[in-house]
Amino acid sequence: MKVLVINAGSSSLKYQLFDMTTEEVLAKGLCERIGIDGHIKHQPTVEGKATFDEDVALPDHAAAIAIVMEKMMSAEYGVISDASEIGAVGHRVVHGGEAFTTSALIDEKVLAGIENCIPLAPLHNPANITGITACQAVLGNVPQVAVFDTAFHQTMPAHAYTYAIPHAYYDKYKIRRYGFHGTSHRYVADRAAKMLGRPIEELKLISCHMGNGSSVCAIDGGKSVDTTMGFTPLAGVPMGTRCGDIDPSIIEFLCDKEGLSVAEVLNILNKKSGVLGISEVSSDFRDLGSAAAEGNELAALALEVFPYCVSKFIGAYAVAMGGVDAVIFTAGVGENGISEREAIAKNLGAIGIKMDTEKNKVRGKETDVSTDDSRGRVFVIPTNEELVIARDTVEIVKG
Ligand code: ADP
Repeated sequence: MKVLVINAGSSSLKYQLFDMTTEEVLAKGLCERIGIDGHIKHQPTVEGKATFDEDVALPDHAAAIAIVMEKMMSAEYGVISDASEIGAVGHRVVHGGEAFTTSALIDEKVLAGIENCIPLAPLHNPANITGITACQAVLGNVPQVAVFDTAFHQTMPAHAYTYAIPHAYYDKYKIRRYGFHGTSHRYVADRAAKMLGRPIEELKLISCHMGNGSSVCAIDGGKSVDTTMGFTPLAGVPMGTRCGDIDPSIIEFLCDKEGLSVAEVLNILNKKSGVLGISEVSSDFRDLGSAAAEGNELAALALEVFPYCVSKFIGAYAVAMGGVDAVIFTAGVGENGISEREAIAKNLGAIGIKMDTEKNKVRGKETDVSTDDSRGRVFVIPTNEELVIARDTVEIVKG
C-alpha cells in the first residue's frame, strides 16, 4: 500500500509518499506560503525523476494538495501513474486531548473530536483540520488516519499529569500535562529496544527529543510515564525560541513593567525566548557554537543553560522510574549536536550512565555512544515521525 503522510501547518504543508511494502519514501516535499503567494518543493527519490522547486500560486491547502498530486503523477516529477494508487493518508495532528489515546480512522466523529481540542492547540489543530479537509476534497474517499502528538503520553499516571492548581480547573477545562513529540518518542524507544535486543516491556528509557522544540520523556515498559512539555508545548526544557519552565508570576510582572498584554508576553515566551532569548544571537545551536567560539558570553551561557536543564530532567526521570537502561538523543540537536550531547552527559555518571566522548563524535547515525562499563546505554537515534504515521495508518486501515 502507498501512504501519503501530511503535516499541515497554517501556511505550510509537508508531505511524504511511502511505499509501505518496503517502507521506502517515493517522494517528499514542502508547500510554503499557502494563502499568501505560494512555493512548492517536490523531491522524488525515484531515479530519473527531477525535483520541482518553484513559486506556484497556492490560494489554499486544497490547491496545494491538488498541485502536489499533479506533480506526483507527472512524467517529469512523478512517482505514481494514478491517484488511486494512494491507499490511505496519514495526518499528523498536534492535540488529541484526553479523547485520543491512539491513532484514529478519520470520520465525522473523529473530526469533531479534533475540533473539540482546538482550545488546547489554537494554532495547530485548525491547520491540521484544514489539511484533512483539503485531502478529502482532492482525494475523495481514500481512508484518512489522524496520528496525534499527544496520544503516546496518555498513559501518564495522574500523579505525573496533574498540576497543583485547584482541581476544578481540570474538571472544567481539562487543564493538565499532555506532552507532545509522542510519535518521535515512541519511534526511538522502539529502536532502542531493538538495539538492546530486549523486549520494550522490561525497559526503562529516557528519550531526549531536541530540535527547534525539545522534550524529554520517561518511558517505562514502552509507555510514557512522564514528559517535560505540558498543557502546551511551551513547557519543560528551554528550546530554540520557547522559554520552557519559568515561574508563572513572571508573566504579570512583565505585563506591568513593559506595558504589554498577556498575549504579547506569551508571544515573547514562545518566539523570542529559549536559547535565542538568552544569547540574543540565534535559535540555532550551530550559530550559538560559532558565536561562543568567538567569545560571545551570552551564547556560551545559552549553551550551558540548555544541557543543564536537559540533564536535570534525565536525573529526575531516572529517579521517577527507579532506574534507566538507556538515554536516547534524537532530532536536530540530539542527532547532530556533539558538544551539546557531551555537555548533557557530563554528570550522568551519578545515575550509572557514562558517555564515550570518542564514540560520541558522530552525526545523524543510529549508534551506541556509551562506554563499555556504563550501567545504562547512551544511544543516538535519528527519529522518523513520518514513518510512524505511515505505519499507524496502514495498521488502522487494514483493521
Ligand atoms: P524541528 O523541531 O523543527 O523538527 P529539527 O529536529 O530539524 O527541528 O532540529 C533543528 C535544529 O537542529 C536546528 O535549529 C539546530 O539548532 C539543530 N542542529 C542541526 N544540525 C546541528 C549540528 N550539526 N549541531 C548542533 N545543532 C544542530
